[in-house]
Amino acid sequence: MTKHDWTKEEILEIYNKPLMELLYEAATVHRKYHDPNAVQVSTLLSIKTGGCPEDCGYCPQAARYHTDVEGNDLMSVQQVKAQALRAKSSGSSRVCMGAAWRNVKDGPEFDNVLEMVRTINKLDMEVCCTLGMLTENQAQRLAEAGLYAYNHNLDTSEEYYKEVISTRGFEDRLQTIDNVRKTNVTVCSGGIIGMGEEIEDRAGMLVALSTLNPQPESVPINALVAVDGTPMEEEKPVAIWDMIRMVATTRIVMPQTQVRLSAGRTQMSREGQAMCFFAGANSIFAGDKLLTTPNPDVNEDMEMFKLLGLNPMKPFTKKSQPKTVEASESELTSLGEKPKWTRPDHTIERNLAAQNK
Ligand code: SF4
Repeated sequence: MTKHDWTKEEILEIYNKPLMELLYEAATVHRKYHDPNAVQVSTLLSIKTGGCPEDCGYCPQAARYHTDVEGNDLMSVQQVKAQALRAKSSGSSRVCMGAAWRNVKDGPEFDNVLEMVRTINKLDMEVCCTLGMLTENQAQRLAEAGLYAYNHNLDTSEEYYKEVISTRGFEDRLQTIDNVRKTNVTVCSGGIIGMGEEIEDRAGMLVALSTLNPQPESVPINALVAVDGTPMEEEKPVAIWDMIRMVATTRIVMPQTQVRLSAGRTQMSREGQAMCFFAGANSIFAGDKLLTTPNPDVNEDMEMFKLLGLNPMKPFTKKSQPKTVEASESELTSLGEKPKWTRPDHTIERNLAAQNK
């Protein structure tokens, strides 16, 4: 059964374990619930870029910062369809459409987004949106259009949130997630490390996510890409060890979730990314841009997959159902065999015990 009452202390204890122990535990949880060789490839598409009224300190799309980002009005449905087809032919099974809005406003632009959702849905791809704050009614309209997932990141801990953004509060984020939860759309919510936060804040963010019931189906873990012109332009790159620890901890506290290795992959070696996959990451974003920041080329990623023996996941593979044993205890007993599997609730403990024998 998934634990929903994680405390900050418990999560810090996991995060700070000796690395090899942490990796072993995370990989064990990962294998219990997921195919360790399958990684979902998603494509993030900026359908409306720049000019955002919010002040997220990491974001080059905020209108108030002087960055190199060129603003664009909302793309047309045809443009989005063409990009989605291209993404599909490169192995993506999910398209995530991002618009630099504070919140969704009812009207012709939202109607167009709904049409984009319907269009991508017909391509047999998972379709996700990240459009800012949503009302319950808007979430319902997206659900009716066939939206598979809605992304709304918590970004960081509740305590550190005001250091990053002043134009909205942590509670506003939770409210939108709650509005999405009232529909059949799955929730994608994660955060960014490397914004000057303490490790306690990373743990605090994971407390906020893991105590949601149900937990988010998808959690992106981003490493800050410090962009010139934003208030975080001077932040140092995140150490790969921090990223590995964050992915592993996320995997352990949210065992059924898709953990997405998101922004910052251009700063990571293949070896570093391989350790993140081992630690439980099972999704990446493909394409040379992640909204506005650089991302590895799709061919490079496919080469990496080949090297590591990873396979791109098919769409709608799972809503994170636990991978359970092939036969039940009673079935095996009736065949005169002793059950050899480890039950889902106790896999880690039993595996550790087996190792110690
Ligand atoms: S992260 Fe989103 S809400 Fe914040 S400034 Fe950028 S586009 Fe706007």
